[in-house]
Amino acid sequence: MSKKGKLLIVGFGPGHFEHITARAKEAIQESDLIIGYKTYVNLIKGLLTDQEIVSTGMTEEVSRAQEAVRQAESGRKVAVISSGDAGVYGMAGLVYEVLMEKGWKEETGVGIEIIPGISAINSCASLLGAPIMHDACTISLSDHLTPWDLIAKRLDAAGQADFVIALYNPKSGRRTRQIVEAQRILLQYRSPETPVGLVKSAYRERQNVILTNLENMLNHDIGMLTTVIIGNSTTKVYDGKMITPRGYQRKYTLDSAVQPLKPSQRLKREAEPWALEQDPNLLKRKSIPTAPEQPQKSGTPENLFAKQEPGSEKPSSLDIAMEALSMVDGTAALQMAPDYIQQPIESIFELAVKPGVANKKFTPEQMITLAEVVGEKGTMEYSPNHQIVLRIPTAEPDEITKKLQSVGFLLAPVGEVLSVKACDFCDGEKYEAIPYAEKIEEKLGGLPLPKKLNIGINGCGMACYQAVMEDIGIVFRKGKFDLFLGAKPVGRTGHAGQLVAEGIEPDQIVDLVTRIVEEYKENAHPNERLFKYFRRVKEIAGFKYKDITPKIKIEPAPCGD
Ligand code: SAH
Repeated sequence: MSKKGKLLIVGFGPGHFEHITARAKEAIQESDLIIGYKTYVNLIKGLLTDQEIVSTGMTEEVSRAQEAVRQAESGRKVAVISSGDAGVYGMAGLVYEVLMEKGWKEETGVGIEIIPGISAINSCASLLGAPIMHDACTISLSDHLTPWDLIAKRLDAAGQADFVIALYNPKSGRRTRQIVEAQRILLQYRSPETPVGLVKSAYRERQNVILTNLENMLNHDIGMLTTVIIGNSTTKVYDGKMITPRGYQRKYTLDSAVQPLKPSQRLKREAEPWALEQDPNLLKRKSIPTAPEQPQKSGTPENLFAKQEPGSEKPSSLDIAMEALSMVDGTAALQMAPDYIQQPIESIFELAVKPGVANKKFTPEQMITLAEVVGEKGTMEYSPNHQIVLRIPTAEPDEITKKLQSVGFLLAPVGEVLSVKACDFCDGEKYEAIPYAEKIEEKLGGLPLPKKLNIGINGCGMACYQAVMEDIGIVFRKGKFDLFLGAKPVGRTGHAGQLVAEGIEPDQIVDLVTRIVEEYKENAHPNERLFKYFRRVKEIAGFKYKDITPKIKIEPAPCGD
């Protein structure tokens, strides 16, 4: 019996020599015969020595596979070459199909080795930036071997499921309608501004890379050698690159629409609980996630109660009535949401609430509202800052802020922001300093800073709410204010601030505190708390630093001092 032949199914990557794997080169060189499409054989010509070549046209793939099997059965080593990866719309499956038809078994039949290559989705992505990153799929628009109805169904599903999509075989001389149809289907789910990359002949001589968007993609040249990469709902363009974030943004707070989690916060259940507890109903609702608005600090908040039952699929009767009304009075076009469907993506909305600056009393209505908005999946945490921190999984943070404001809560962002901690002014009996506390809250509360900063405001010299222990301490005494700066509010070497000024006129206090905060915000290093900043620069708003750190020797503690 003659020696057993072997099939080497080789993906040689996008086309450039540098991107062919070592095993692929070796396999091509060790074979007796190369079978492949003419253009591909030309691309690897530099590797060939004395191999026999069987090159055919594009549409003869089945006969190429049959020929390869026949040749291997006659005892030869046959390399069947595909661009990219041979298992992605390539020759690998076809060769197996021919073998299966013949009842081939690995043990007794010819040998077969599939040699992986870099597929167009990867080579084209690398030229665009990092558009894949998250869940992605490939769809071939060629209806040569697949019915168009099925391709359309897949486009629809991928659009709906927010996959990044790589379209292979997007268009050819004869097939021009498919890409137009694909764009129409995807525009039902994605914004017209969704970034789209068109890569033609990646890593080949005529390489051409275009960054466009879903709306305008058809205004560019798309052909047989183009791969079209369509971003998901989070894909961004930055400096001419198409970038899809590694995950969805999972957290919003009031001071910025989205805040990425710090590495230390990731994978903690309280920060990322959605994976297990995603509400399946959410995926069916038609609504667009909106960025939270800045907190409204005054004025009558709109009553937006229960426009839609959480989790319900059906529009409420109010929704239907509004829609009908808008149709008759002609405002329909104005009121319409963008006409594509984007499933809401839940994030953790984090914010803090308190009943007032001086007011420390919650009403029953406020407590009920808290329970309602937090629901079963959210958390409420009593914090040392005289406020309750809420963490609520939601796709509609503005609904939550409106409900909380409607019952009189003061809302504040959480994180590296300014908080005002006032005393209760002896239940309002020592009221003189209250307006100043409220003005400071209104002007500076929630301001993002290099590090969290607390302003303590106390209404009399007793300072029983410990204003002097805050980063900035303000104590009202005999109609005027005393100011303390540079307290070290945390750690075993914690200490009160130094008294920098006494008897400040009330009409000056707000501006003076604002100046201090602005100077700190402008000049402090990231993460540098006010006491450290004061110690480093030695002067804030004209006040000189005095070292009042208690001189004690203390063993270092593993988690700080
Ligand atoms: N097996 C190949 C795909 C073959 S289908 C792979 O894994 O990449 C042919 C389609 O692949 C083309 O229509 C085009 O969409 C894509 N393609 C292949 N090579 C490419 C390249 N160098 N640049 C851009 N697209 C490419």
